[in-house]
Amino acid sequence: MRGTHDILPDQSRAHRRIRETARELAERYGYAEMSTPIFEFTEVFKRTLGETSDIVTKEMYTFADRSGDQITLRPEGTAGIARALISGGLGQSLPLKFFYSGPMFRHERPQKGRLRQFHQIGVELLGAASAMGDVEVIALGDQILEALGIRGRTRLELNTLGDSASRAAYREVLVAYLISHRDGLSEDSAKRLDRNPLRILDSKDKGDREVVDGAPLFGDYLTDDARAFFDRVRAGLDDLGLAYLINPRLVRGLDYYCHTAFEYTTEHLGAQGTVLAGGRYDGLIETMGGPPTPGVGWAAGIERLAMLLDEQVPAVKPVVVIPVGDEFEAEAFRVTQRLRLAGIAADIGFSGNLSRRMKRANRMGAAYAVILGSDELARDAATLRDMETGAQEEVALDKLVDRLTQRR
Ligand code: ATP
Ligand code: MG
Repeated sequence: MRGTHDILPDQSRAHRRIRETARELAERYGYAEMSTPIFEFTEVFKRTLGETSDIVTKEMYTFADRSGDQITLRPEGTAGIARALISGGLGQSLPLKFFYSGPMFRHERPQKGRLRQFHQIGVELLGAASAMGDVEVIALGDQILEALGIRGRTRLELNTLGDSASRAAYREVLVAYLISHRDGLSEDSAKRLDRNPLRILDSKDKGDREVVDGAPLFGDYLTDDARAFFDRVRAGLDDLGLAYLINPRLVRGLDYYCHTAFEYTTEHLGAQGTVLAGGRYDGLIETMGGPPTPGVGWAAGIERLAMLLDEQVPAVKPVVVIPVGDEFEAEAFRVTQRLRLAGIAADIGFSGNLSRRMKRANRMGAAYAVILGSDELARDAATLRDMETGAQEEVALDKLVDRLTQRR
């Protein structure tokens, strides 16, 4: 199906490395793994993402289930976690720090780095209003990219959307500007002019971009408080030696986003250059009917991160047991199973003559072959062959596990 992929073993290992590296580092920063359902009531996403967002207006997989409930396959992770916080009454013990990973679904035009089922890792820090929270989630993202060896191919872009007073002031001048350039705007954006003008800053339409390039800058309308918050975030990043670029055009169009917005972008993936994106969303939980709860977090696309990994993630190299002749298969199976029980990855090279079985062991990426022929077996032994060097030695069967453990 368009926009979906089978994730074959090579790719699966890359995904796993990304997930595991992220989960391990997230735990180091105190973020516990959690997961929410892959589908929720459509309302959950409509409320959190906003009726006018791209995701809600054109990207959601929404359908009525057999009981007639409106269901949506989750397009992102934050809404579900916010819903869980409210419905599970988790809000009693703030702050809370969560890590998640899993599939997301968006009905988009498939292209490189843009799928309809894709996968994300993400973190949320809930109940922390301090600028140090923003610094912490960015530091965690940074360390994950570093550990994956791809930080050097990305850059951190940073901006602030201020507080609600800043946004109200900015909204006014922005709308005035956009109205005076209405002719240059796309149909979508012209519609957003009343309901959600900030969203237009986010538009990927070429005509919109040209209009937006001349728009007044958010930074000129920040309140003193909002500016002070941004200064604290910047000082925190400076203090940790985390390099960033201020991008005054970086926005998230939704009302509950505030203060920090950030993205790690790369020039190595063509048009789909954002690998990790996030920001502060202090108004979100309240929008969903929960108690006022500040929040900050990010999400990163696993497929895009995987494209930036510079080497394949190697498969486990097994020991391949090779019976020389079908009559030794039962013995080969016993030996294989003994290795597996001892914690050694082992497989068996079935059928054909010795050279076919050796070829097969090679194809399986074997580190060692254990060859069971009649001569060796008569002495309760096997030939152990180092597949890399070709060196062979005879090893007693009851010493095989020790010998292999030693060698590794
Ligand atoms: P874009 O500008 O690429 O559409 P977005 O703003 O919709 O991104 P977010 O909702 O912030 O993206 O999602 C966070 C990350 O998830 C993105 O930076 C990207 O790495 C990944 N992502 C988003 N949509 C897709 C998709 N359709 N296919 C693959 N990865 C995606
Ligand atoms: Mg998108």
